[in-house]
This record gives sequence, C-alpha cells and structure tokens, in this order.
Amino acid sequence: MEIWVHGMVSLILAAVLYPAYGWQASFVLIGGVLIDIDHYIWYVLKYRKLGFRDCYRHFTADGKANNYKDVTGVLIIFHTIEFLAVMAILSAFSALALLFTIGLVFHFFLDLLWLYLYHKRFIADHSLLHWIYRNRIQKA
Ligand SMILES: [Zn+2]
Repeated sequence: MEIWVHGMVSLILAAVLYPAYGWQASFVLIGGVLIDIDHYIWYVLKYRKLGFRDCYRHFTADGKANNYKDVTGVLIIFHTIEFLAVMAILSAFSALALLFTIGLVFHFFLDLLWLYLYHKRFIADHSLLHWIYRNRIQKA
C-alpha cells in the first residue's frame, strides 16, 4: 500500500484517539507508517546500498514492472505475524505499545487489502519462522 494512504489513515486514527490518549496517540503513526522502514533495512542489507529513493523505486515502480519478482519472498521484519504477536503481548503492559499496535493492525489491514485487490497473492514472507524454514530448505 502507498505510504500516503498509511499516513492519512494513521493520522485520522491518531486524531480519533487524541482525546483519550493525548500526545501518546502519535504512536499510532509510528505503528501505522514508520514500520515501512523495514523495507529499507532489507534493501540496505541485501544490496549494501543506502539510496533511499532507489529503495523506494525497487519496491514500487521496479516491482510493478517485473511483477515483484525481485521482492517476492523477502523478509520485511515488521510485517511479520511474529512481530505482531510480540507487540500484542507488550500491549497488555503498555499504553504506548497498545497505540503502536493499533497503528500496526491498520497498516497490516491496508497492506492485505492492497495485496488482495491488486495481486491476489502475498509478495513478502509474512512469517519470520516460515522464512527461516524456507531458506534452510533451499540451502540444504
Ligand atoms: Zn506495509
């Protein structure tokens, strides 16, 4: 999903939660928008390049052009079910973690909607354990 859509939805969500949580509602934006930094982390580790624009193009225009061949099966760590599980557990103990997780859940929902509407398949691997398992099999 485009980053501006995540930004708009998270901003609306933060505004709705602001009366109850005050400035802490801004953590919805971190969970809802900034988690996409994991694409950049993966790009830097994979290609040993720091170009942020190149990374963005790699996941958007280039991906679209080659049917996401180069990014299929990649591990974007904050988009995994395991990360969501950890955040859900932390949410029981911290309002900040809860607000982050609310943003994260909406982010996941928007990404899933985008995948369903335009691709009918997953592109990245959304499980750390599955990704480790799959890469072990391929190397064996
Ligand atoms: Zn995302």
